[in-house]
Amino acid sequence: MEHALETRCPFCKRKNDHCSNVGSEHSQPTDGDVTMCIGCGGLAIYDSKSESGLRVPSVAEIIDVLADQDVEKAMMAWQRVVGYKLDK
Ligand SMILES: [Zn+2]
Repeated sequence: MEHALETRCPFCKRKNDHCSNVGSEHSQPTDGDVTMCIGCGGLAIYDSKSESGLRVPSVAEIIDVLADQDVEKAMMAWQRVVGYKLDK
């Protein structure tokens, strides 16, 4: 489900005005949830104390996030949308 929520990507500085969740149909994002910028594909953490609404994840958070298959699927979908190819 899509929600109106203004945030600014901590990586590319893109202003995003909506978000979609991968999990529960009705859950709003809360502090500590991960998001992926539609502009650059960067993974960030929701943080209501941050002026942008997001912060750069810690190394430990990135390790946890990358182990989540839903995040992996979202990253693959984003890569297909923008035509990005990973060299393996
Ligand atoms: Zn971005």
